[in-house]
Amino acid sequence: MKVLKFGGTSVGAPQRMQQVAHLINDGRKKIVVLSAVSGTTNTLVEITDCLYAKDKACARAKMDELKMHYGQFIENLYRTTEAKEEATELINAYFDYINGFTKDLFTIYEERAVLAQGELISTNLFYLYLKEQQIDAALLPALEFMRIDKDGEPDMFYIEKNVQAEISKHPGQQLFITQGYISRNAFGEIDNLKRGGSDYTASLLGVAVKADEIQIWTDIDGMHNNDPRIVKDTYPIKELSFDEAAELAYFGAKILHPSSIRPAKEANIPVKLKNTMEPEAEGTVISANSSKDRIKAIAAKDKIIAIKIKSGRMLMAYGFLRSVFEVFERYKTPIDMITTSEVAVSLTIDNTDQLVDIVKELQEFGLVEVDRDLSIICIVGDFLTDKYGTAVEIFGSLQHIPIRMISYGGSNNNVSLLVKSSHKKEALEALNVGLFEKTSSHV
Ligand code: ASP
Ligand code: MG
Repeated sequence: MKVLKFGGTSVGAPQRMQQVAHLINDGRKKIVVLSAVSGTTNTLVEITDCLYAKDKACARAKMDELKMHYGQFIENLYRTTEAKEEATELINAYFDYINGFTKDLFTIYEERAVLAQGELISTNLFYLYLKEQQIDAALLPALEFMRIDKDGEPDMFYIEKNVQAEISKHPGQQLFITQGYISRNAFGEIDNLKRGGSDYTASLLGVAVKADEIQIWTDIDGMHNNDPRIVKDTYPIKELSFDEAAELAYFGAKILHPSSIRPAKEANIPVKLKNTMEPEAEGTVISANSSKDRIKAIAAKDKIIAIKIKSGRMLMAYGFLRSVFEVFERYKTPIDMITTSEVAVSLTIDNTDQLVDIVKELQEFGLVEVDRDLSIICIVGDFLTDKYGTAVEIFGSLQHIPIRMISYGGSNNNVSLLVKSSHKKEALEALNVGLFEKTSSHV
């Protein structure tokens, strides 16, 4: 069994959806996880914003526009009048439901219910299309088996038991379709796995059904060795280890939801990143068998804030760092990079929601400086500690760029540097020349 996930752009237009149907119709056993049609979840978020602001006219205008979009979509997706009528009825029912939320109190529960409609719509339209094409499939209702616990973590025991139960309702069935992103929570309410969460659904389902492979289909041919929006002549990386992929997914390479690596790694299920537009292209394989001892990729993450705490109290003291970290823990703000000297510690965060309060508390320990508009440049690969020369290669390439922080040796897979965002492009290009263009063989 394989689990294949198709993202919003892969089902974003009728022709694309038809292409997906063609791609998956090979008679092999699989679960197909779909995102919402691209743009839908964003519009649903806007609708919930209007509803929170009690602006019904704004909400209705956005609903009407989205519904019209689906009207056109249906017109081009199906051939027969029956299918068009059935799909139109379906869309009417979904939009009546969404419209119902303009009548009453709007809270986080209603918000989540609205956000869940995108995936319900895309999977139902797709299922109808398969029916019209006489492709035999079963629609699995994700809200019956996807579940998160009180901490927002997936409840694997529940998921495994219940997805198996849903599957066993269709003996002999080879092709299953289900919704990404949506789930129930510990209280049985409709919830979700956060934006971009369909990848996470695919990897959790892969584990739950003991799949031999998880495929994530998008509109790019895998993870690239550098940011293709900034650097010319990047290329897809053929293979990555789970840890390398996790670093890259977190640091900028938007192609894969960072949480989706861990379950696959724990169950040792390879994850393939494939391109719907170019299905023959190899893409990227993420597995435990990736080649070692190589620099594989460079990625960058923007909007980073550095905080420096300078304190005489730190000198030869123990417990100082713990007190600092506790402040971040209290404000639920993750720290990304950290470097220390004997009298100061610098660390970075990307979530500034609680920055003012955090700084106020840190000032009790000493002098606090905050730097904004920074970018983390992250070099990912397999850096064996006994191999020398890697640091020279990296820093040699960056001679002309001021570096604010360096993190080396935290793991064997990552070297991170902090630079001003205005230097990011230059740094990515210089590293590309120094690390990839000088070596001839592509990974
Ligand atoms: N539709 C959701 C989003 O746009 C989930 C996903 O596409 O992965 O965030
Ligand atoms: Mg995505």
